[in-house]
Amino acid sequence: YLPVALLLGAGLAYGAYRLQVNRLSFKEQLRSAMRANEFQVYYQPVYGHLSGQCEGVEALMRWNRPGVGFVRPDIFIAAAEAEEMIIPLTQHLLRLIERDLQTWSTPPDFHIGVNIAPEHLSSAGLVSDIQTFMANVAARHPLIVLEITERSLIADSGQARQNIDVLRAQGVRVAIDDFGTGHCSLSYLQKFPVDYLKIDKGFVQAIQDSGDETPVLDVIITLAQRLNLAVVAEGVETQPQFDYLTSRGVAFIQGYLFARPMPSAEFVPWYVRHSPP
Ligand code: C2E
Ligand code: CA
Ligand code: CA
Ligand code: CA
Repeated sequence: YLPVALLLGAGLAYGAYRLQVNRLSFKEQLRSAMRANEFQVYYQPVYGHLSGQCEGVEALMRWNRPGVGFVRPDIFIAAAEAEEMIIPLTQHLLRLIERDLQTWSTPPDFHIGVNIAPEHLSSAGLVSDIQTFMANVAARHPLIVLEITERSLIADSGQARQNIDVLRAQGVRVAIDDFGTGHCSLSYLQKFPVDYLKIDKGFVQAIQDSGDETPVLDVIITLAQRLNLAVVAEGVETQPQFDYLTSRGVAFIQGYLFARPMPSAEFVPWYVRHSPP
Protein backbone atom coordinates (compact mmCIF):
# COMPACT_ATOMS: atom_id res chain seq x y z
CA TYR A 1 0.00 0.00 0.00
CA LEU A 2 2.93 2.26 0.61
CA PRO A 3 3.53 3.50 -2.94
CA VAL A 4 -0.14 4.27 -3.40
CA ALA A 5 -0.33 6.19 -0.13
CA LEU A 6 2.81 8.10 -1.03
CA LEU A 7 1.51 8.93 -4.46
CA LEU A 8 -1.81 9.99 -3.05
CA GLY A 9 -0.15 12.12 -0.40
CA ALA A 10 2.10 13.75 -2.95
CA GLY A 11 -0.87 14.30 -5.24
CA LEU A 12 -2.89 15.97 -2.51
CA ALA A 13 0.01 18.14 -1.44
CA TYR A 14 0.59 19.14 -5.04
CA GLY A 15 -3.11 19.83 -5.55
CA ALA A 16 -3.28 22.03 -2.47
CA TYR A 17 -0.12 23.86 -3.51
CA ARG A 18 -1.43 24.47 -6.98
CA LEU A 19 -4.75 25.68 -5.62
CA GLN A 20 -2.99 28.14 -3.37
CA VAL A 21 -0.81 29.47 -6.15
CA ASN A 22 -3.85 29.88 -8.37
CA ARG A 23 -5.75 31.59 -5.60
CA LEU A 24 -3.05 34.13 -5.00
CA SER A 25 -2.65 34.75 -8.67
CA PHE A 26 -6.36 35.08 -9.36
CA LYS A 27 -6.63 37.82 -6.74
CA GLU A 28 -3.64 39.50 -8.33
CA GLN A 29 -5.15 39.04 -11.78
CA LEU A 30 -8.32 40.80 -10.68
CA ARG A 31 -6.37 43.64 -9.11
CA SER A 32 -4.26 44.17 -12.18
CA ALA A 33 -7.29 43.89 -14.45
CA MET A 34 -8.92 46.71 -12.50
CA ARG A 35 -5.80 48.83 -12.80
CA ALA A 36 -5.57 48.08 -16.52
CA ASN A 37 -9.22 49.02 -17.03
CA GLU A 38 -10.23 45.62 -18.37
CA PHE A 39 -13.67 45.80 -16.76
CA GLN A 40 -16.55 47.48 -18.46
CA VAL A 41 -20.19 47.95 -17.59
CA TYR A 42 -22.94 46.85 -19.92
CA TYR A 43 -26.38 48.32 -19.35
CA GLN A 44 -29.53 46.37 -20.08
CA PRO A 45 -32.66 48.51 -20.49
CA VAL A 46 -35.73 47.67 -18.43
CA TYR A 47 -39.11 48.40 -20.00
CA GLY A 48 -41.92 49.80 -17.88
CA HIS A 49 -45.28 48.53 -19.07
CA LEU A 50 -47.26 51.38 -17.49
CA SER A 51 -45.30 54.16 -19.17
CA GLY A 52 -44.50 52.17 -22.29
CA GLN A 53 -40.89 53.26 -22.17
CA CYS A 54 -37.45 52.47 -20.78
CA GLU A 55 -37.58 53.05 -17.02
CA GLY A 56 -34.08 52.07 -16.14
CA VAL A 57 -31.16 49.73 -16.65
CA GLU A 58 -29.38 46.90 -14.92
CA ALA A 59 -25.61 47.32 -14.73
CA LEU A 60 -23.82 44.10 -15.71
CA MET A 61 -20.11 43.66 -15.37
CA ARG A 62 -17.96 42.57 -18.31
CA TRP A 63 -14.34 41.47 -18.24
CA ASN A 64 -12.64 41.69 -21.60
CA ARG A 65 -9.27 40.00 -21.05
CA PRO A 66 -6.63 40.87 -23.60
CA GLY A 67 -5.79 37.78 -25.59
CA VAL A 68 -8.65 35.82 -24.00
CA GLY A 69 -11.84 37.70 -24.79
CA PHE A 70 -14.89 38.05 -22.59
CA VAL A 71 -14.88 35.96 -19.44
CA ARG A 72 -18.34 34.78 -18.41
CA PRO A 73 -19.54 37.08 -15.63
CA ASP A 74 -21.15 34.34 -13.54
CA ILE A 75 -17.75 32.62 -13.51
CA PHE A 76 -15.52 35.53 -12.57
CA ILE A 77 -18.11 36.90 -10.13
CA ALA A 78 -18.27 33.56 -8.32
CA ALA A 79 -14.46 33.43 -8.25
CA ALA A 80 -14.27 37.00 -6.97
CA GLU A 81 -16.74 36.09 -4.22
CA ALA A 82 -14.68 33.04 -3.26
CA GLU A 83 -11.49 35.11 -3.19
CA GLU A 84 -13.04 37.88 -1.12
CA MET A 85 -12.59 40.30 -4.00
CA ILE A 86 -16.25 41.00 -4.73
CA ILE A 87 -16.38 44.15 -2.59
CA PRO A 88 -13.41 45.88 -4.27
CA LEU A 89 -14.74 44.73 -7.65
CA THR A 90 -18.19 46.19 -6.93
CA GLN A 91 -16.62 49.44 -5.72
CA HIS A 92 -14.72 49.52 -9.00
CA LEU A 93 -17.98 48.95 -10.90
CA LEU A 94 -19.59 51.87 -9.08
CA ARG A 95 -16.71 54.14 -10.19
CA LEU A 96 -17.26 53.02 -13.80
CA ILE A 97 -20.99 53.70 -13.59
CA GLU A 98 -20.32 57.16 -12.15
CA ARG A 99 -18.11 57.95 -15.12
CA ASP A 100 -20.64 56.62 -17.64
CA LEU A 101 -23.56 58.49 -16.08
CA GLN A 102 -21.88 61.81 -16.78
CA THR A 103 -22.63 61.24 -20.47
CA TRP A 104 -26.30 60.28 -19.97
CA SER A 105 -29.34 62.50 -20.08
CA THR A 106 -31.80 60.24 -18.31
CA PRO A 107 -34.57 61.77 -16.17
CA PRO A 108 -34.57 61.85 -12.37
CA ASP A 109 -35.53 58.52 -10.80
CA PHE A 110 -34.28 56.56 -13.78
CA HIS A 111 -33.58 53.13 -12.26
CA ILE A 112 -30.00 51.94 -12.00
CA GLY A 113 -29.87 48.31 -10.87
CA VAL A 114 -26.65 47.12 -9.28
CA ASN A 115 -26.00 43.53 -8.24
CA ILE A 116 -24.81 43.28 -4.65
CA ALA A 117 -23.20 40.05 -3.45
CA PRO A 118 -24.24 38.58 -0.08
CA GLU A 119 -20.88 39.35 1.53
CA HIS A 120 -21.18 42.99 0.52
CA LEU A 121 -24.78 43.27 1.68
CA SER A 122 -23.84 42.10 5.15
CA SER A 123 -20.69 44.22 5.38
CA ALA A 124 -20.40 47.31 7.55
CA GLY A 125 -19.13 49.31 4.55
CA LEU A 126 -22.12 48.92 2.23
CA VAL A 127 -23.97 52.01 3.40
CA SER A 128 -21.01 54.31 2.85
CA ASP A 129 -20.22 52.66 -0.51
CA ILE A 130 -23.74 53.40 -1.73
CA GLN A 131 -23.82 56.87 -0.19
CA THR A 132 -20.57 57.76 -1.96
CA PHE A 133 -22.04 56.50 -5.21
CA MET A 134 -25.24 58.51 -4.67
CA ALA A 135 -23.24 61.65 -4.01
CA ASN A 136 -21.14 61.12 -7.13
CA VAL A 137 -24.17 60.68 -9.39
CA ALA A 138 -26.33 63.29 -7.67
CA ALA A 139 -26.48 65.42 -10.84
CA ARG A 140 -28.55 62.71 -12.58
CA HIS A 141 -30.51 61.80 -9.45
CA PRO A 142 -31.09 58.16 -10.41
CA LEU A 143 -33.13 55.73 -8.37
CA ILE A 144 -30.70 53.13 -7.14
CA VAL A 145 -31.93 49.56 -6.98
CA LEU A 146 -29.80 47.02 -5.14
CA GLU A 147 -30.32 43.56 -6.59
CA ILE A 148 -29.77 40.98 -3.89
CA THR A 149 -30.33 37.25 -3.97
CA GLU A 150 -32.33 34.97 -1.73
CA ARG A 151 -28.99 33.68 -0.49
CA SER A 152 -28.38 37.08 1.11
CA LEU A 153 -31.61 36.88 3.06
CA ILE A 154 -30.94 33.43 4.38
CA ALA A 155 -27.44 34.35 5.52
CA ASP A 156 -29.01 37.29 7.35
CA SER A 157 -26.51 38.76 9.73
CA GLY A 158 -28.54 41.54 11.23
CA GLN A 159 -26.06 43.85 9.52
CA ALA A 160 -27.72 43.13 6.17
CA ARG A 161 -31.10 44.10 7.56
CA GLN A 162 -29.67 47.23 9.13
CA ASN A 163 -27.98 48.24 5.85
CA ILE A 164 -31.24 47.78 3.97
CA ASP A 165 -33.19 49.81 6.51
CA VAL A 166 -30.72 52.71 6.42
CA LEU A 167 -30.46 52.76 2.63
CA ARG A 168 -34.18 52.41 2.00
CA ALA A 169 -34.80 55.36 4.31
CA GLN A 170 -32.54 57.32 1.94
CA GLY A 171 -34.53 56.36 -1.13
CA VAL A 172 -32.58 53.32 -2.30
CA ARG A 173 -34.74 50.39 -3.42
CA VAL A 174 -34.15 46.69 -3.09
CA ALA A 175 -34.95 43.90 -5.52
CA ILE A 176 -34.82 40.17 -4.88
CA ASP A 177 -32.94 38.79 -7.88
CA ASP A 178 -33.41 35.37 -9.48
CA PHE A 179 -36.49 34.84 -7.39
CA GLY A 180 -37.56 31.24 -7.12
CA THR A 181 -34.16 29.69 -7.85
CA GLY A 182 -32.67 29.86 -4.36
CA HIS A 183 -33.74 28.22 -1.18
CA CYS A 184 -37.25 28.78 -0.04
CA SER A 185 -37.31 32.25 1.44
CA LEU A 186 -40.97 32.96 1.79
CA SER A 187 -40.67 33.67 5.50
CA TYR A 188 -37.72 35.99 4.85
CA LEU A 189 -39.75 37.87 2.29
CA GLN A 190 -42.22 38.77 4.97
CA LYS A 191 -39.48 39.91 7.36
CA PHE A 192 -37.37 41.84 4.86
CA PRO A 193 -38.51 45.15 3.47
CA VAL A 194 -38.02 44.85 -0.30
CA ASP A 195 -39.52 46.67 -3.27
CA TYR A 196 -39.20 44.41 -6.32
CA LEU A 197 -39.18 40.75 -7.17
CA LYS A 198 -37.17 39.78 -10.23
CA ILE A 199 -38.48 36.57 -11.70
CA ASP A 200 -35.69 34.38 -12.97
CA LYS A 201 -35.54 33.80 -16.70
CA GLY A 202 -36.04 30.08 -16.21
CA PHE A 203 -39.67 30.68 -15.25
CA VAL A 204 -40.19 33.23 -18.01
CA GLN A 205 -38.82 30.89 -20.64
CA ALA A 206 -41.31 28.25 -19.56
CA ILE A 207 -43.92 30.39 -21.31
CA GLN A 208 -44.30 28.70 -24.68
CA ASP A 209 -46.27 29.74 -27.71
CA SER A 210 -48.20 26.50 -27.24
CA GLY A 211 -49.93 28.01 -24.23
CA ASP A 212 -48.90 25.27 -21.78
CA GLU A 213 -49.62 26.21 -18.19
CA THR A 214 -46.93 27.80 -16.04
CA PRO A 215 -48.17 27.19 -12.50
CA VAL A 216 -44.95 28.15 -10.69
CA LEU A 217 -44.65 31.42 -12.56
CA ASP A 218 -48.30 32.21 -11.91
CA VAL A 219 -47.90 31.58 -8.19
CA ILE A 220 -44.82 33.83 -8.03
CA ILE A 221 -46.68 36.67 -9.72
CA THR A 222 -49.65 36.26 -7.39
CA LEU A 223 -47.35 36.09 -4.37
CA ALA A 224 -45.60 39.32 -5.36
CA GLN A 225 -48.93 41.07 -5.86
CA ARG A 226 -50.16 39.91 -2.45
CA LEU A 227 -46.97 41.27 -0.89
CA ASN A 228 -47.35 44.57 -2.80
CA LEU A 229 -44.08 44.06 -4.65
CA ALA A 230 -43.55 45.22 -8.20
CA VAL A 231 -42.48 42.41 -10.50
CA VAL A 232 -39.62 42.52 -12.99
CA ALA A 233 -39.54 39.63 -15.45
CA GLU A 234 -36.09 38.72 -16.74
CA GLY A 235 -35.08 36.91 -19.89
CA VAL A 236 -38.14 37.95 -21.92
CA GLU A 237 -37.29 36.93 -25.47
CA THR A 238 -40.59 36.54 -27.30
CA GLN A 239 -43.77 38.52 -27.86
CA PRO A 240 -45.99 35.72 -26.41
CA GLN A 241 -43.90 35.87 -23.20
CA PHE A 242 -44.26 39.65 -23.10
CA ASP A 243 -48.03 39.46 -23.67
CA TYR A 244 -48.49 36.76 -21.06
CA LEU A 245 -46.57 38.67 -18.40
CA THR A 246 -48.02 42.12 -19.00
CA SER A 247 -51.57 40.74 -19.13
CA ARG A 248 -50.97 39.38 -15.63
CA GLY A 249 -49.84 42.72 -14.29
CA VAL A 250 -46.06 42.34 -14.46
CA ALA A 251 -44.87 45.95 -14.46
CA PHE A 252 -41.30 45.65 -15.72
CA ILE A 253 -39.88 43.63 -18.58
CA GLN A 254 -36.20 42.91 -19.15
CA GLY A 255 -34.85 40.75 -21.93
CA TYR A 256 -33.51 40.48 -25.43
CA LEU A 257 -36.98 41.23 -26.87
CA PHE A 258 -36.68 44.81 -25.62
CA ALA A 259 -32.90 45.23 -25.61
CA ARG A 260 -29.62 43.43 -24.99
CA PRO A 261 -27.04 44.65 -22.49
CA MET A 262 -24.81 47.26 -24.18
CA PRO A 263 -21.89 49.51 -23.32
CA SER A 264 -22.60 53.09 -22.31
CA ALA A 265 -21.55 54.50 -25.68
CA GLU A 266 -24.25 52.39 -27.34
CA PHE A 267 -26.84 52.95 -24.65
CA VAL A 268 -26.79 56.74 -24.99
CA PRO A 269 -28.03 56.83 -28.63
CA TRP A 270 -30.29 53.83 -27.99
CA TYR A 271 -31.99 55.76 -25.21
CA VAL A 272 -32.49 58.81 -27.40
CA ARG A 273 -34.20 56.63 -30.00
CA HIS A 274 -36.38 54.93 -27.38
CA SER A 275 -37.61 57.88 -25.37
CA PRO A 276 -40.51 60.13 -26.27
CA PRO A 277 -39.61 63.35 -28.18
P1 C2E B 1 -28.38 38.36 -13.32
O1 C2E B 1 -28.19 39.38 -12.26
O2 C2E B 1 -29.56 37.45 -13.21
O3 C2E B 1 -28.38 39.14 -14.70
C1 C2E B 1 -29.24 38.83 -15.77
C2 C2E B 1 -28.53 37.99 -16.80
O4 C2E B 1 -29.46 37.61 -17.81
C3 C2E B 1 -27.41 38.74 -17.51
O5 C2E B 1 -26.38 37.79 -17.77
C4 C2E B 1 -28.10 39.17 -18.82
O6 C2E B 1 -27.19 39.42 -19.87
C5 C2E B 1 -28.95 37.95 -19.08
N1 C2E B 1 -30.09 38.22 -19.95
C6 C2E B 1 -30.77 39.38 -20.08
N2 C2E B 1 -31.80 39.25 -20.94
C7 C2E B 1 -31.78 37.99 -21.39
C8 C2E B 1 -32.59 37.25 -22.32
O7 C2E B 1 -33.56 37.73 -22.89
N3 C2E B 1 -32.26 35.95 -22.52
C9 C2E B 1 -31.21 35.36 -21.90
N4 C2E B 1 -30.95 34.07 -22.17
N5 C2E B 1 -30.41 36.03 -21.00
C10 C2E B 1 -30.70 37.32 -20.76
P2 C2E B 1 -24.86 38.16 -17.56
O8 C2E B 1 -24.61 39.59 -17.92
O9 C2E B 1 -24.10 37.09 -18.26
O10 C2E B 1 -24.65 38.03 -16.00
C11 C2E B 1 -24.77 36.78 -15.37
C12 C2E B 1 -24.80 36.94 -13.87
O11 C2E B 1 -23.55 37.41 -13.39
C13 C2E B 1 -25.82 37.96 -13.40
O12 C2E B 1 -27.10 37.39 -13.40
C14 C2E B 1 -25.30 38.25 -12.02
O13 C2E B 1 -25.69 37.25 -11.12
C15 C2E B 1 -23.80 38.19 -12.24
N6 C2E B 1 -23.30 39.56 -12.41
C16 C2E B 1 -23.12 40.28 -13.53
N7 C2E B 1 -22.62 41.49 -13.25
C17 C2E B 1 -22.48 41.55 -11.90
C18 C2E B 1 -22.00 42.52 -10.97
O14 C2E B 1 -21.62 43.65 -11.32
N8 C2E B 1 -21.99 42.17 -9.64
C19 C2E B 1 -22.44 40.96 -9.21
N9 C2E B 1 -22.40 40.70 -7.89
N10 C2E B 1 -22.90 40.02 -10.04
C20 C2E B 1 -22.92 40.31 -11.37
CA1 CA C 1 -29.38 40.99 -11.38
CA1 CA D 1 -31.48 37.80 -12.23
CA1 CA E 1 -28.98 35.02 -12.76
